[in-house]
Amino acid sequence: MTKLVLFSIVCLIPSIFSFPAPKSYVYDNFPFVSREEWGARPPTSVINLNLPVPYVIIHHTYIPGACFSVEQCSASMRAMQNNHQLTQQWEDIGYNFAVGSDGVVYEGRGWEAVGAHAFGYNSRSIGIALIGDWVSVLPPAIQMETTKRLIEEGLRLGYISENYDLIGHRQVRNTDCPGQALFEEITTWDRFQPNV
Ligand SMILES: [Zn+2]
Repeated sequence: MTKLVLFSIVCLIPSIFSFPAPKSYVYDNFPFVSREEWGARPPTSVINLNLPVPYVIIHHTYIPGACFSVEQCSASMRAMQNNHQLTQQWEDIGYNFAVGSDGVVYEGRGWEAVGAHAFGYNSRSIGIALIGDWVSVLPPAIQMETTKRLIEEGLRLGYISENYDLIGHRQVRNTDCPGQALFEEITTWDRFQPNV
């Protein structure tokens, strides 16, 4: 009950900032902040994914740390896009989506564009970053719940293959990402694949 109430409070936040929301950006099962709403620059180029993708790859951002409001998380999204696009010279923010500790999904490259988040797997995956450092603590329950709902939505909309594998970034790259605590957690999620 408490969780439901919390969820509906959080759900109202993006609609305050996003009126009127484009129809394609309205999701029933989680609050969503589009690129326009967090103030993204356009990508310098876009490569389309071959859909549906067979992998969902989970990340943490490490830096920036956890954010707890649309205002704070939007600033984190802009900071990451600045780093990825201006410093790293990538086309755009690397992730397809990010999820805040406010339980809100923030649009990165979205469902249809190849990301830059897991070398060798970018063209076959949707990369989802849980904003924050999840090495020794777990993200708030609402952040993980929203992540699961986002994956379910990708399945429902046909962007993610029904037989998808869920993996952590560390399984395809020499990195701690998505942090030890979060990695242990995702090994219990639907369709986690230990053998990549
Ligand atoms: Zn990562």
